[in-house]
Amino acid sequence: MKKRRIDLSKFSSIKIGPVTDLIVLEKGDKPPCEHTLIGCASNILFAPDLPALMMLGKDFDYIQKRGGELIVGAATPTGKLLSFCKRHDLGGFEYLTGLPGTVGGMVAMNAGIGSYETFDNLIEIVTDKGVFAKRKIPHDYRFAKLPGIVFEAVFKVESGFDTTLAASFSAMRKKQPKEPSAGSIFKNPPGDYAGRLIEATGLKGFRAGDMAWSGLHANFLVNLGNGTFKDALALIEKAHSRVIDHFGIELELEIKIIKNEG
Ligand SMILES: Cc1cc2nc3c(=O)[nH]c(=O)nc-3n(C[C@H](O)[C@H](O)[C@H](O)COP(=O)(O)OP(=O)(O)OC[C@H]3O[C@@H](n4cnc5c(N)ncnc54)[C@H](O)[C@@H]3O)c2cc1C
Repeated sequence: MKKRRIDLSKFSSIKIGPVTDLIVLEKGDKPPCEHTLIGCASNILFAPDLPALMMLGKDFDYIQKRGGELIVGAATPTGKLLSFCKRHDLGGFEYLTGLPGTVGGMVAMNAGIGSYETFDNLIEIVTDKGVFAKRKIPHDYRFAKLPGIVFEAVFKVESGFDTTLAASFSAMRKKQPKEPSAGSIFKNPPGDYAGRLIEATGLKGFRAGDMAWSGLHANFLVNLGNGTFKDALALIEKAHSRVIDHFGIELELEIKIIKNEG
């Protein structure tokens, strides 16, 4: 098994985290069970003190077309999958426009936007525990109960990349904050928007140190320079309790917080 030293304050999309050594799994490696898996850390807030981490290596970065199916390695960047679909005029992944991550991360999070989500065109996943058809995997909005580490995902594809649809996602992305973030911090509660609720409690633009609830989108926590885990967590806890106080709604975290529990 290979090791890699990584600076999470550069690697993670929100630019917070220590320098750490992690294990890189390639084909044939047996995953060590006590390690926490990360993709490309676009939905993770890292604490200064972390458990042992692992990630998938280059062996899991590939895309193959087999009839109406795409077989995609879990370390494949979402942007690469989107480009592949554009290049080969394939439809069904336009919603990945501006959605960072790896294919493993997008399956684990059931990532998506609006009415589009990863499980829509998923057929099955290959994991360290075997092959699982979509119907065997409990999933919901930004949630999937995975049986293990995703090595590969098989999706159905249609012909015809919809450039108009992709352009509409691109326009949507232009309205999102440009500063480093981990995307939406909370899931939208049924029938409402976490951003609307946070804004209504007066926290839009609210700052702690170099972290702030974005003035552009109140559900995005942005790093304005040297943001810390402590300030990020304080803002998350503040928004969580204010939304309970104002609306009686308990927002559920969408991002993953990784910290050493031991
Ligand atoms: C600017 C910005 C915009 C975003 N917009 C959206 C959006 O519109 N919609 C949306 O849904 N998300 C959005 N996100 C969040 C993020 O892009 C997705 O959640 C993405 O799918 C995470 O992929 P990742 O590889 O970075 O996973 P990570 O953040 O590294 O990990 C997330 C979770 O996935 C698990 N995981 C990763 N790889 C695997 C694997 N191979 N097998 C099993 N589990 C795995 C990890 O253990 C972790 O629990 C946004 C993020 C940013 C920074």
